[in-house]
Amino acid sequence: MALLVQKFGGTSVGSVDRIKAVANKISTNKDEGNDLVIVVSAMGQTTDELSVLARKISKSPPQREMDMLLATGEQVSIALLSMALNELGTPAISMTGSQVGIVTESAHGRARILEVKTDRILNKLNDGKVVVVAGFQGTSVSSGGTSEITTLGRGGSDTTAVALATALNADACEIYTDVPGVLTTDPRKVKSAKLMSHLSCDEMLELASLGAAVLHPRAVELARNYGINLKVLSSWDDSPGTELTSKKRKAIGREGLELGRPVDGVELVENQAVIALSHIPDKPGIAAQLFENLSEGNINVDLIIQSTHEGNSNDITFTINRKNLVKATSLCKSILKEMGGVFKSQDNMTKISISGAGIMGRPGIAAKLFDSLYRSGINLRLIATSEVKVSCVIDSSEGSKAIKAISNSFKLNNEQIAINPIISGFGEPAVRGVALDPDQSQISVRKIPDLPGIASSICSILSDSCICLDTIVQSERQYKNGERDISFTLKTSEKISAKKTLAPLMAKWPGSYLEDGPSINRISAVGSGMPAIAGTAAKMFRALADANINIVMIATSEIRTSCVVSEDDGLKGLNAVHKYFQLDK
Ligand code: ASP
Ligand code: MG
Repeated sequence: MALLVQKFGGTSVGSVDRIKAVANKISTNKDEGNDLVIVVSAMGQTTDELSVLARKISKSPPQREMDMLLATGEQVSIALLSMALNELGTPAISMTGSQVGIVTESAHGRARILEVKTDRILNKLNDGKVVVVAGFQGTSVSSGGTSEITTLGRGGSDTTAVALATALNADACEIYTDVPGVLTTDPRKVKSAKLMSHLSCDEMLELASLGAAVLHPRAVELARNYGINLKVLSSWDDSPGTELTSKKRKAIGREGLELGRPVDGVELVENQAVIALSHIPDKPGIAAQLFENLSEGNINVDLIIQSTHEGNSNDITFTINRKNLVKATSLCKSILKEMGGVFKSQDNMTKISISGAGIMGRPGIAAKLFDSLYRSGINLRLIATSEVKVSCVIDSSEGSKAIKAISNSFKLNNEQIAINPIISGFGEPAVRGVALDPDQSQISVRKIPDLPGIASSICSILSDSCICLDTIVQSERQYKNGERDISFTLKTSEKISAKKTLAPLMAKWPGSYLEDGPSINRISAVGSGMPAIAGTAAKMFRALADANINIVMIATSEIRTSCVVSEDDGLKGLNAVHKYFQLDK
């Protein structure tokens, strides 16, 4: 006998017939002897329809009233599902978020869950009932003591389910949906997408757009942080679905459930060297050739960063283990002889990274990292960001100072600090899935002073305006007085407000200016085996080069390689990369 939390999405309860079918499934499961807590979304398109109604009354309805309205959608489906179960002779009781005691922050429309009370659910389970809980909603208690209905944000029912599984210590959390599970890429974009039997929560988070289409990212974050056994399954058949794995984590306090720990580790990797190639031609195939040569020379490359300058030449910077510096130098120099460009290298560097599921969507985290390094007077040589990790390359003499500063600001204990950890991912595929993030734009901040605190001030000011940066690239190219460029990608919808926000900062740096890049797509390849398998990035660049696609920007992280390409090349590139890594097989 197991305690299971099962969530059924809007389509799965979209009609009377479907509600009856779901009830049948639940009833069978119950007869097998399981204790069941069921979470449901609003029927079909109900949430959208309610939003449309609201907009017909008011262009900007008060958020409190929106929550009041939207929460009704789930109240309909819990009551109907509970009736259907009782009709089948399976005793069931429905509960709203506030009846359960799903306590959230007070931020209407995007509240995070702070606590889930379990007594009322446990009582009903003891009575042999199936408990049907409204997803997506909770209750906040204001300072005055009045309770308010809140919602978690669109798609939030998944998060309700995982939060319940965490609080109840459930054996598993099963998300039933209208797709068979998580696929290797978006099947609407690549026809040959295949079902993955399993992937890690970190991989899911790195596949941001792909992952978010299947599961609310906050649900994955919770599952990762609390080690919940999470599955995505089809509502319509008994196919095996996809299992999301997470490292077994130590029991951690559950107060502030979703606020838990945005950052839960810091890692220092010593003995790094940085190689910077600048003024190399901006055309398809260059990155592929370079990294193929390095990989044939058995040189494992860690971070790779590329951005375009002055419209027609590229800088590519990457890190390697310093024991390979001599060999890599001669390889690079002979390539540069053919294609032109300037070579620079720096030995004795250290990479420092923070990791945690809460980095994604919380722009303040990277800003806080840069700020704490800045306060210790540490200059950042390279920056690489991903959904679950932010890495900086610094001078090796600053390593221990950096560790101290970071563990202080993120309140990390000794067990969360890793110095020169062994490479992970052996036996895992280098690429498990690929994703396309459309609607991205690029902004470059040109000719800014090369001083500690610059990245920090840019990221802080944007994060104060709640603007998330996806890829932050600080280039190696320096101008006459040592000035540098920083480029980043962000959602196109946030571009105008980012430019406005940055303007006063730019005014402080004479000669600096903002450059508006074109609309772009980001293609990401993700796999836990990436750190252990040399040449993965080279393969991705080759796939794009063979499709005659020019790479605008490259940014890698431990288990992700992302290439920014022009908007027109996005779909073609995604298909090419998916095929090259044989994900269609
Ligand atoms: N009904 C809500 C929505 O449509 C929550 C959910 O479905 O997860 O966003
Ligand atoms: Mg959903």
